[in-house]
Amino acid sequence: MSLIVQKFGGSSVKDAKHIRNVAGIIAETYLQGNDVIVVLSAQGDTTDDLIAKAEEINPHASKREMDMLLSTGEQISVALCAMALEGMGLPCVSLAAWQVSIQSTSVHSDARIKKIDSERIRAELDQHRIVIVTGFQGVDRNGDVTTLGRGGSDTSAVALAAAFRADLCQIYTDVDGVYTTDPRLVPNARKLDEITYDEMLELASQGAQVLHNRSVELAKKFRVNLEVLSSLERKPGTKVKEVTKVEKTNIAGVAKDTSVARVALVGLEHNPGVAFQVFDLLSKHNINVDVILQSIGREDTKDISFTVHKKDLEETVQILTDSKQTLKFDHIAADDHIGKVSIVGAGLMSNCGVAAKMFEALYEAGINIQMINTSEIRVSVLLDEDDVNRAVKAIHAKFFDEA
Ligand code: ADP
Ligand code: ASP
Ligand code: MG
Repeated sequence: MSLIVQKFGGSSVKDAKHIRNVAGIIAETYLQGNDVIVVLSAQGDTTDDLIAKAEEINPHASKREMDMLLSTGEQISVALCAMALEGMGLPCVSLAAWQVSIQSTSVHSDARIKKIDSERIRAELDQHRIVIVTGFQGVDRNGDVTTLGRGGSDTSAVALAAAFRADLCQIYTDVDGVYTTDPRLVPNARKLDEITYDEMLELASQGAQVLHNRSVELAKKFRVNLEVLSSLERKPGTKVKEVTKVEKTNIAGVAKDTSVARVALVGLEHNPGVAFQVFDLLSKHNINVDVILQSIGREDTKDISFTVHKKDLEETVQILTDSKQTLKFDHIAADDHIGKVSIVGAGLMSNCGVAAKMFEALYEAGINIQMINTSEIRVSVLLDEDDVNRAVKAIHAKFFDEA
C-alpha cells in the first residue's frame, strides 16, 4: 500500500463531467489499496472571474480581502469532488487549508507554506477516507486565509507529499507532461520522459506554467517523487527527479515570461552601498527583483536596471520615487512592454556554443536583445513583448529542428 498525492488543475475540474472523470482516477487509485490525498484547484477560469468581480467593486482592494475571495474557488472544487466520490459510495472528506491546517506566512497573495499539521489528515486516512484538500491556500498565525500565488496548488500538493512522505506526487493537468516548450505555442515541441529538478525549477521560474516554481523547489528539497501527467489520457507523463538517465547534450527546453516589467534608475551616485540601498528598500516591501544590470560607472554616476513582476511595477515606481531624496538618482524609466525568453539545460554554461546558438536564432529572426542574464544552467534575454512568441519559435527551431 502506498500514499499517493494527486493534484488536479483548473481545467481538469472545470465542469461536472470533468469532476466525474477526476473522481474516477481517484477512485481507481484508492480501490487499488492506496491512501490518497487529493489537492484541487478552482474550476476552469474561476480565479480569473473572481479577480474580475473584485475589480468591478474596487480595483485597489487589499490583498487580504483578495485572498478571502480567491480562496473560495478551491473550496467549491473540493466540495463538488467529495460529492462525486460520495455518489460512487467511497468514503471521503473535503478540507479547506485552515482545517488541515496548512500554516503559511502572512504575505497575502504570495504566502509561503511554513508547516503542515498532520493530525487531521492522518486521522482521516486512518479511517480509510480519501482526503480532498483545497490547493493554493494557507492560514496565517492570525487565522487569516492566505493564497500562495497564481498556480500555487502545485505547491500545496508537493508540500503535502513532503509532509506525509508520500510515495508519489502526481500533478494531473491538461497536457500529458513537460515539453521542450509550451506545446500550445510550438505544436512540434517534444514531450520529455524525465527532467531534473534543477532544469524544471529554472523552466518553471522562467515562466513554464506547467508547474509552480515553488513546488519544484520543495520537491527538490524533500526529494518528492514527482510526475506531471494528463487527466484526460491514461499514459505515462514526465518524471521530475534528481538525475536523469541520458547525458544531456542539448537544452531541456525554452520558456517565456511576459509578466515582467523593467525599471531603470538613471543617474545614481557611483558610490559603494547604492545597490544595497535600492534593493534593501524593495525587499522590505516584499518586492521580488529578477534580472539586474548595472551600467559601468561614467563620471560620477551609474544606472541600475532590473525587472519586477508587472503587478508590482506601480508600487515599485512609487516606493523609489518616494525615496528619491535618499537614493539620489536623476530619474526613473519604467517599461511594462517587455518579456523574457530563456533556454535551460544542465551543463549549458560549460558549453559556450549554446548561448551563441540562441543569439544566432534571435539575430536570424531580426530580434533585438535588451538585457541578458545567465545562471549555470540558463540563459535569459529580455525582449520587446511583441517579439516574445517569435523568439520562442525561432530558438526552439534552432535547437530542436536543426539538431
Ligand atoms: P493546471 O490548470 O492544470 O494547473 P496550467 O494551465 O497551470 O494547468 O499548466 C498547464 C499549461 O502549461 C499547459 O496547458 C501549457 O500550455 C503550459 N505550458 C507552458 N510551458 C509548458 C511546457 N514546457 N510543457 C508543458 N506545458 C507547458
Ligand atoms: N486557482 C489558482 C490559480 O488559478 C491556483 C491554481 O490553479 O494552482 O492561480
Ligand atoms: Mg497550474
